[in-house]
Amino acid sequence: MHELSLAQSLLDIVEQELARHGATRAKVIRLDVGEFTAVVPESLSFCFEVITKDTPLEGVRLEMNPVPLTGRCRGCGKEFRIQDYNFACPRCAAMDIETIAGKELLIREIEAE
Ligand SMILES: [Zn+2]
Repeated sequence: MHELSLAQSLLDIVEQELARHGATRAKVIRLDVGEFTAVVPESLSFCFEVITKDTPLEGVRLEMNPVPLTGRCRGCGKEFRIQDYNFACPRCAAMDIETIAGKELLIREIEAE
């Protein structure tokens, strides 16, 4: 259960953030979810719902913004969307690719009450 531990760490961060701002409840949590994290949004929502039940965060909505997997060629500097796990540069065909987006799981915004 990959999503359950993720949901737990998200909850920890959200609670810390809320405490820092003197709030206890949140309405919406907005996340950037990289394509490469293999997170299943429905599954993460479900886990979050389960662990926040009977807590002040019960009923909070998770909004997930998918971030496409993006790479940059170390050879020619071209940035491109990596599709079907094809890690080859479309310009020069080099395989030396650095991923610059798509691996993140970030809380972008918390809408508190
Ligand atoms: Zn290249």
